[in-house]
Amino acid sequence: MVAELWPVALRNEGDGLRIEWNDGVATFVRWQTLRENCPCASCIEERQRPPDPFRVLSPQEVAAGTPRPRSMTPVGRYAYQIVWNDGHATGIYTLERLRQLSQPLSMSSKSDAVSPPESP
Ligand SMILES: [Zn+2]
Repeated sequence: MVAELWPVALRNEGDGLRIEWNDGVATFVRWQTLRENCPCASCIEERQRPPDPFRVLSPQEVAAGTPRPRSMTPVGRYAYQIVWNDGHATGIYTLERLRQLSQPLSMSSKSDAVSPPESP
């Protein structure tokens, strides 16, 4: 039986989020990737539209530049709400989604990582 996945550590690192999971895997996802994959209804609708060549960035988007989180708050036990620097705050990222969107970090660079307990 596979235990539920939990983040044991979340770290704002460079231009993204580093997550250490309770299964010993560390993953990394860029904030930009998270922002582009915002799971809220209006963003999903936005992504399903055909690309609009005349789409103009909103003043907020221009002012904000690269997506950065203002805050990341746990929602219940299974998700995080990210408030972005462009003011967008309706995206709730489930742990499952965070795991899917992020890429495992190479195991070679585990200098300061805590080793998971060895399974028998
Ligand atoms: Zn959204």
